[in-house]
Amino acid sequence: MTDTPTQLFIGGSWLDAADGATMPVDDPATGEIIARVADAGAKDARLAEDAAVQAQEEWARTAPRARSEILRRAYEIILERTDELAHLMTAEMGKPLTEARGEVAYAAEFFRWFSEEAVRIDGGGGILPDGRNRMLLSRRPVGPCLLITPWNFPLAMGTRKIGPAIAAGCTMILKPAPQTPLSSLALAAILKEAGLPDGVLNVVTTSRAGEVCEPLLRGGRIRKLSFTGSTNVGRLLLAQSAEAVVRTSMELGGNAPFVVFEDADLDKAVDGAMLAKMRNMGEACTAANRFFVHHSVAEEFGRRLAERMGALVVGPGTQDGVDVGPLIDRTGRAKVEELVADAVERGAQVLVGGRAPEGPGCFYPPTVLTDVDSGSRLMDTEIFGPVAAILTFDDEDEVIRRANDTPWGLVGYVFTEGLDRALRVSERLEVGMVGLNTGLVSNPAAPFGGVKQSGLGREGGRVGIDEFLEYQYLAVPVR
Ligand code: NAP
Repeated sequence: MTDTPTQLFIGGSWLDAADGATMPVDDPATGEIIARVADAGAKDARLAEDAAVQAQEEWARTAPRARSEILRRAYEIILERTDELAHLMTAEMGKPLTEARGEVAYAAEFFRWFSEEAVRIDGGGGILPDGRNRMLLSRRPVGPCLLITPWNFPLAMGTRKIGPAIAAGCTMILKPAPQTPLSSLALAAILKEAGLPDGVLNVVTTSRAGEVCEPLLRGGRIRKLSFTGSTNVGRLLLAQSAEAVVRTSMELGGNAPFVVFEDADLDKAVDGAMLAKMRNMGEACTAANRFFVHHSVAEEFGRRLAERMGALVVGPGTQDGVDVGPLIDRTGRAKVEELVADAVERGAQVLVGGRAPEGPGCFYPPTVLTDVDSGSRLMDTEIFGPVAAILTFDDEDEVIRRANDTPWGLVGYVFTEGLDRALRVSERLEVGMVGLNTGLVSNPAAPFGGVKQSGLGREGGRVGIDEFLEYQYLAVPVR
């Protein structure tokens, strides 16, 4: 960690903020400051924008194979440094080392995937119906991009955007979350080592997000915003993007239903629940937020889930054998405490957990609540913590209606052994992704994204690169 850069990365150089400002990075397991990084302001943002704009034309002309090979080299370097990157991520974000190693592999895979897509950017063409003109279609990079990422997957949320932007031939400014800047700075150093030309990627770490990003979005030189974060901030950024008609991709919040039918295999359902709820301590947009369990199996499902949740070891992510690290900060933990208190006040029973421990760090125990009232606040709020809230249902139509009764639509989970029901229910859920008898959907080769207020566009998969490309149509007379 001593070698991790702490300055801004602009035009291929490491720079202090113009006004010399720095900001602390805390370890959420101890509350201790582990580093100070540069805290960019509007002046630094302008410098990064100049670098991205200047580099765009030449970068767009680079051979796709050259762009592909830079990504492939970076993929290999990331994997070689798995341990180092995992420790860094655990230190600044808290997740257990085993999960951090998993995220490093997941993050690297976006670079491998998009290194393979860079050389498959297609065009098209043909003779137009009237026979007088030919149509030639080519695909061009959209131009300099602003990429804004959250703290919960510090490396993977970066590579999921940087990978396709590099593959498409776009330059970019990355603004990571202030809680987790170190992973992004380490990634920038890796891309430089892999041969990425100066100015293609610029990283501005800041505690002044609005001051840094708003002028970029309104200024007319940034052509694309790719944002991952909460729906409220996404909405604000969409409004700011409207003025200069900036193209946007939005990966926003979720409120995932997890539906267990009476014909489900309960072993699979409990395994799936552990994954869908406990990945990243529940701090995931894909986290199961509302468990709807058929009344005939609800008691057994709740008991088995509580047993598994209660057996998890809570502690600092760096310690061997720890399954559940701290939440990101005290605000995040206070929100979870308030949501649980509200549910209990409305009659929920606590099967396990439910009380934050004393002492330093932002720990919260794995918690299972049953008999949750559908008016509880956690039904329409992302819990973002290790709390499973169980409600019961009687029939299929009813549960689909309740699952869809939310402004969000990122992912849903369905557990049933009936093929017809599995397809029927999946098709009726208003979500961008469905986990059918599984609690994990994320994969770089699959299009990730939501409907309704969970976002616009898709990341990853064959379509992930489309978000960074524009069509140009050339009309050529047939002679
Ligand atoms: P957040 O508060 O919306 O912040 C996300 C990013 O936006 C951070 O870098 C943040 O920086 C920045 N930001 C906030 N206000 C801004 C502004 N006015 N201008 C420019 N940037 C601004 O979300 P979070 O708490 O970090 O992350 C959790 C949320 O992300 C959850 O809702 C989760 O569901 C969502 N998420 C979605 C996906 C997905 O793929 N759909 C994946 C992961 C997470 P500051 O903190 O400095 O404000």
